[in-house]
Amino acid sequence: MKNIRNFSIIAHIDHGKSTLSDRLIQSTDIVAERDFKDQMLDSMDLERERGITIKSQTICLPYTAKDGHLYYLNLIDTPGHVDFSYEVSRALASCEGALLLVDASQGVQAQTIANLYLALEHDLEIIPVINKIDLPSADIEKVKLQIADELGLDPDTAILASAKDWIGTEEILEAIVTKLPPPQGNPDAPVKALIFDSHYDPFRGTVVHFRMIDGTLRPGDRIMFMSNQAEYTVEETGVFQIKRVPQKSITAGRVGYIIAGIKTVSDTRTGDTITVKKRPCEKALPGFKEPKPVVFSSIYPVDTDEYPDLAAAMDKLKLNDASLVYEKDTSAALGFGFRCGFLGLLHLEIVQARLEREYDLSLIITAPSVQYEIGLNDGTMMTIENPALYPDPVNIAYIREPYIRASIFTPDTYMGQIMQLCLERRGINTNYQYFGSNRMEMVFEMPLAEVVYDFYDRLKTVTQGYGSFDYDMLDYRQSDIVRVDILINSERVDALSQLVHKDKAPFRARQTCEKLKEEIPRHMFKVAIQGAIGGKVIARETINAYRKDVTAKCYGGDITRKRKLLEKQKKGKKRMKMAGEVMIPQSAFLSVLKSK
Ligand code: GDP
Ligand code: MG
Repeated sequence: MKNIRNFSIIAHIDHGKSTLSDRLIQSTDIVAERDFKDQMLDSMDLERERGITIKSQTICLPYTAKDGHLYYLNLIDTPGHVDFSYEVSRALASCEGALLLVDASQGVQAQTIANLYLALEHDLEIIPVINKIDLPSADIEKVKLQIADELGLDPDTAILASAKDWIGTEEILEAIVTKLPPPQGNPDAPVKALIFDSHYDPFRGTVVHFRMIDGTLRPGDRIMFMSNQAEYTVEETGVFQIKRVPQKSITAGRVGYIIAGIKTVSDTRTGDTITVKKRPCEKALPGFKEPKPVVFSSIYPVDTDEYPDLAAAMDKLKLNDASLVYEKDTSAALGFGFRCGFLGLLHLEIVQARLEREYDLSLIITAPSVQYEIGLNDGTMMTIENPALYPDPVNIAYIREPYIRASIFTPDTYMGQIMQLCLERRGINTNYQYFGSNRMEMVFEMPLAEVVYDFYDRLKTVTQGYGSFDYDMLDYRQSDIVRVDILINSERVDALSQLVHKDKAPFRARQTCEKLKEEIPRHMFKVAIQGAIGGKVIARETINAYRKDVTAKCYGGDITRKRKLLEKQKKGKKRMKMAGEVMIPQSAFLSVLKSK
């Protein structure tokens, strides 16, 4: 065990975690140079393109240190976004130490601090690394001050690095060996292992990623997941070295995988404890949580014929994404689709992008919503996130909505703009504190619903990219929530209904009507677009009738040209949705989701 080190790299997004991971992999000799693609760990195309790590992956790096001994360094990759902080915490619970990466020109950011706190909660040994020192804008001294003042770490221990230019790589590997403690644990004790991730393999089923705390696991063992007592027989144990490499056993202190005929990733739960049926451990590991979606939205195929394809794609995605929840949904305007729950907005975007790209579907996504608690006059309580299920207001006693604690990290010059943005979003400024001379953390309590609606983009805009943001769920608070309906020629379009705070309703209704006016083409008749609460109209736009016949100019002319035109219109119509007699293009449904 003394030649094993388990570590993570934690950093704010874009500070160079993936690039550094690549360098560490390349410095150890498990990958032939010609096989190497940049950012080896970010394997999905989407991740590569957006440069974000969605699915964490693990890799076991054999490394011969300067002391002449061979070490196995287990790099446990963590997802780099607030939506996935639970997954990050489970990955960190599997480590003894972490590299804390700080961009030499950007300095310490919100997720640097949030991730450091998570790491300290797990008593991890921290090695600070200042990355991107090759940049002309690098300010090493300033970052060292921040490391001391804002992170409370010893700046003299910070390693100066450029993952891009291979500076500091060797020093980092040596520091992992010499500064991080080896794992502890008893290989002969009852099996106790922590699941920190899982992924789906079409041939073998679910591959469970875990850290052995105590005991030894071997093929043939009858295992049990402690949260739900589900039992399986281990078929294969092994470690990840880019590819899966089977091993005869995995002993205490090590990180590896098991394959055990588990059909979907939903049958395993991140944070759960694996034990052996015959000789179980006494207590599960602490910290297990069920995945809990916080943002909800419906997904429909643009072309209603594509519903079976969407259904098949959802089932496949679910195999690999235990936190995605969904059920069938129908809409008068959009036909069959799915009501889905996500961990956050980024998670929603990822699912949408994967469905469109990997399964070649074009989709309509309805406005994201949070989950509300509604107390009815008869004393019963219901939770809803789907505007369609909003009860008759006369029966409602009260409504409560989820609140978050938002932490914004920013240069103090943007304090005024941030204050204004958060107050507009119904935030309450509960705290602020200075870090160093001109950087600060501002803390707000605000409704999750206000963050779901393009908050992050606006924050980036008002702080010119320097502000960063992190949040935790707080509680539910009483609030005045109404349903805004959109009527097109007096017909309610269910997919456009939204639950919003009463004070925001007139603005949101007006904005939606204006956007629809831009997107809906002219018809042979006048089209009235209205926003309403209950029966009361609070916003209105009109599209005047279109007089000319589009094919008129072809009459007497080329018949094939006319046919082409009609053909084109027919194709266009497939991408249109009908509300009564009115055609609404797909783009209209999408445009109402964006604020400006
Ligand atoms: P992650 O989000 O933390 O995984 O960051 P990435 O590794 O994807 O890096 C973000 C961006 O910074 C990419 O464009 C990298 O090429 C770039 N980058 C990473 N390390 C360095 C470095 O040491 N120097 C410079 N100049 N750029 C770097
Ligand atoms: Mg990355």
